Amino acid sequence: MVQSLDRSQGRAGGIAAAASDSPTFTGNRALQIEEPLIFEMGQPGRCGVDLPEPPKVKDRLNGLKRTGEIGLPGLSEPQVVQHYTRLSQKNYAIDMGVYPLGSCTMKHNPRINEKVARLPGIGDLHPLQPVSTVQGALELIDRLAHWLKTLTGMPAVAMSPAAGAHGEMCGMMAIAAALEARGERSKRRVVLAPESAHGTNPATAAALGFTVKPIPANERGRVDLASLKAALGSDVAAIMLTNPNTCGLFESEIVEISRAVHEAGAFFYCDGANFNAIVGRVRPGDLGVDCMHINLHKTFSTPHGGGGPGAGPVVLSAALAPYAPYPWIVKDGEKWRVAEDGAAVDGKPLGRLKAFHGQMGMFTRALSYIMSHGADGLKQAAEDAVLSANYVMAALKDVMTPAFEGPCMHEALFDDGFLKDTGVSTLDFAKAMIDEGYHPMTMYFPLVVHGAMLIEPTESQAKEDLDVFIAALRSLAERAKSGTAAEEFKAAPRFAPRRRLDETLAARKPVLRWRPSNNPPEGDPLKQAAD
Ligand SMILES: *Cc1c(COP(=O)(O)O)cnc(C)c1O
Repeated sequence: MVQSLDRSQGRAGGIAAAASDSPTFTGNRALQIEEPLIFEMGQPGRCGVDLPEPPKVKDRLNGLKRTGEIGLPGLSEPQVVQHYTRLSQKNYAIDMGVYPLGSCTMKHNPRINEKVARLPGIGDLHPLQPVSTVQGALELIDRLAHWLKTLTGMPAVAMSPAAGAHGEMCGMMAIAAALEARGERSKRRVVLAPESAHGTNPATAAALGFTVKPIPANERGRVDLASLKAALGSDVAAIMLTNPNTCGLFESEIVEISRAVHEAGAFFYCDGANFNAIVGRVRPGDLGVDCMHINLHKTFSTPHGGGGPGAGPVVLSAALAPYAPYPWIVKDGEKWRVAEDGAAVDGKPLGRLKAFHGQMGMFTRALSYIMSHGADGLKQAAEDAVLSANYVMAALKDVMTPAFEGPCMHEALFDDGFLKDTGVSTLDFAKAMIDEGYHPMTMYFPLVVHGAMLIEPTESQAKEDLDVFIAALRSLAERAKSGTAAEEFKAAPRFAPRRRLDETLAARKPVLRWRPSNNPPEGDPLKQAAD
């Protein structure tokens, strides 16, 4: 919870205080329960379990033994269960309705994948089991690797990276190793990244000691080819380019870009986070890509969020394949083995990026997703994702302002032009969507578009649900443009458990530690714990 919330309201300050801010006696809104912090609910001395007195043992803590109470809130088991269940119900989720953040945050995860990942023998695997007992698991990794290579048209793949950003690190380390082998590592220190790049791209390049040079976009939202060519030289190691890009557009000059990059002796790193839009239709290998990470948790639909789990295998061209990190899954005759040292592989692996072999649960879900769709189904998913985005774009373009002309790929991108002089901002618009029962779309990203609103419906929303979503946005856009609703928008969300928070203050001065609100007496155990 953010600190701009006044804790003297709600249950913290007692039911009377809550009632003063609320039309109901309790502060609850129907079955939306006004939720205090767990510390505010606790009672000293209450405990959810009965533990026997520990036997007396000699203190060997050398004076470090805690003297005060531990300071945890005292609650019964049902209180804890109810608190967290109520909190969980305040989350919007992909399983609750239209979710315009799309595959990059989460698209529908078919339940068959979950079932397969939980099969005994897969769910119970341990990475330290003898290799003879995990032959099927190794074959599963290799089978997925085969699909990834086939779908991208690339000869090799490093399976172990644990996320997209980790895959970027892997791919850029392979590029650095290839440059080192050519004796050019110290000479080629620049990585080019379009202005619209996802933040992880420049972060990865910088973390590896490269200097990042931004490349501007043209008025069509694509990389400006002339600026790119002007930036290319003998000091450039690579370009990191997302395709389809973060404006939801296909880089139509990608072949020309890749040719120019290679002519300059540099490598082409493709950020494959948006692969969902082209899988089965376009093979990045045919576009001249040298390496590309695939966010299995985005395109191949494994549940993620809140930091994981993810998986970011990186496909590699022939030039980069020898540098793929350990472990390599190798087949000798009928038997699989895990190659983890120099003598065991025919290459120059750049080392290890991760303990063990990668994210087995994600591999299993991704392979299940791929095999249950088949090659034709994957292609249809990509086509449906693009169709849905264009449907949204076409249905909204007369009331909102598309950022760029023409059809889009998997995302419909609008700027805030339609809100000009209305007193309503992108943020207000997004908050008003919450009142209508929708999680807002991606806002203010990409940065190259003013007040950006980026909608990615994905392939899995029913048309009638999209129609209601579209109607809601049309209604909001028309209300905003009427010029009389600015105050209403500024007050949104009006029906959420929490109203508008001061997000700037929350980001600048986060309160990360709970303290009792009323000055605790000296030596208060809760205060000690908080300090
Ligand atoms: C999500 C994303 C990444 C980072 O991937 P993670 O799996 O979150 O580390 C990189 N680039 C783009 C364009 C993305 O959308």
